[in-house]
Amino acid sequence: MNKTKTFTIPTKAGTDVIDITSEVSKIVSDSKIKSGIACVFVAGSTASISTIEFEPNAVKDLKRALDKIAPENGDYEHHKTWGDDNGCAHVRACFMGPSRSFPFEDKKLILGTWQQIVLLDFDTKNRERKIIVQIVGK
Ligand code: ZN
Repeated sequence: MNKTKTFTIPTKAGTDVIDITSEVSKIVSDSKIKSGIACVFVAGSTASISTIEFEPNAVKDLKRALDKIAPENGDYEHHKTWGDDNGCAHVRACFMGPSRSFPFEDKKLILGTWQQIVLLDFDTKNRERKIIVQIVGK
């Protein structure tokens, strides 16, 4: 059996990190599927799904690390293509990936105590993000 649900989240320009654990948990618990895998995917090439201990300093540390990989004010070839200014966002999103899969049992996600599911939006303007949760199981 499988089930696909979507929801949208408004995000702010820059690296916006948003805890979406409760939204995903609700979709899992509301579905008729007892156990399986929930794939959480963000549509777009400048955003990602991952997990982190969602506390301000861990989020700061992650932003610092990403700034070393793809600095916001770096020099990006992508800017020549469309006149975009979001080269850093594409590189960050590619490294972090657009989706993650999460196992669940008895309609409850199996996560660590300090592990939250996060949407990361790296784009240089505010966005409305569509999150797709596809559940497979029985
Ligand atoms: Zn672009």
